[in-house]
Amino acid sequence: MGEGQKQGHPAYLWWNGERVRWEDATVHVTDLGWSTVGGVFEGIRAYWDDRAGELSVFRLQEHLDRLVRSMKLVRLPLDYSVAALTDAIVDLLRVNDVREDTYIRPMGYAGNTTGKRFAQVGGESHVLINTHPMASHLLTGLQYKAKISSWHRIGEDTMPPRVKNFSNYRNGQLASQEARLDGYDTAFLLDRDGKVTEAPGACVALIRGNQLITPDLTSGILESITRDALLVLAREVLGLDVVERRVDRTELYVADEVFTCGTAAEITPVVEIDHYPVGDGAIGPKTRELERVFHDVLRGREDRYAGWRTPVGVAVPA
Ligand code: PMP
Repeated sequence: MGEGQKQGHPAYLWWNGERVRWEDATVHVTDLGWSTVGGVFEGIRAYWDDRAGELSVFRLQEHLDRLVRSMKLVRLPLDYSVAALTDAIVDLLRVNDVREDTYIRPMGYAGNTTGKRFAQVGGESHVLINTHPMASHLLTGLQYKAKISSWHRIGEDTMPPRVKNFSNYRNGQLASQEARLDGYDTAFLLDRDGKVTEAPGACVALIRGNQLITPDLTSGILESITRDALLVLAREVLGLDVVERRVDRTELYVADEVFTCGTAAEITPVVEIDHYPVGDGAIGPKTRELERVFHDVLRGREDRYAGWRTPVGVAVPA
């Protein structure tokens, strides 16, 4: 464990092209506000493989490609290549001597926004990369009860749902707060036609018979990298028929199994929705199997998908 990690933070961050000691990465308080409205981010995980003594980042290239798309969509210039950001993340994990499951959060935001407010076209952007420990909950039996939110998911006519734009997240936060206050663990947001979109910060899939059904990429969802990986594993390892299409609310109520998925959510089984038990109200066998396969892929115990992992080489002196 790195020196800083013991104090509850990493020793270093990466900020605008260089490693910066955590204590030195400060901004003036008046910089907050419009810069965060103009920000986008990524959420990436690295998993520790205790057998090999190695840390691997999951689908790093795909996450950075999505950061490029997010920056483009909100018209923020990105001054670093994907290769440079890849090196920065690997360097950061090494110099922080990270030897545990970790969340990596790159963010791009409008710099020098004082007096600029809305338009911010052609302005400068800043990039920060932060890391913090985040243990995996796969195979721990974690299970959620969900409600259908009274909040609808943002749509193409208001905000760009397919990218990780910070201000999109108030939508999921409101749904999440409502769910918690009402005694549930999470929520599902519908679109204005009443079709299923996502949970706050996670995609949704259901299983009926041999089909795994999930809202398609034009259903107002984030272009999720976990969802994409799980569709491959469901098809290739579990032999399920994967169907991407619009999904009705009532399909959730009559599904055999339901789970949410995402970088932080990993696979989170949902066992009850609006007081309807999902299947028999316990984690279903296909979800369990998918969790096991996904766990093995993330931890480096499944060679077939080794291309999804970027080994950090924490044993190599930084
Ligand atoms: N939807 C939203 C709104 C999210 O924030 C996330 C988490 N990034 C997801 C879905 C899942 O995406 P991913 O698998 O790429 O983490």
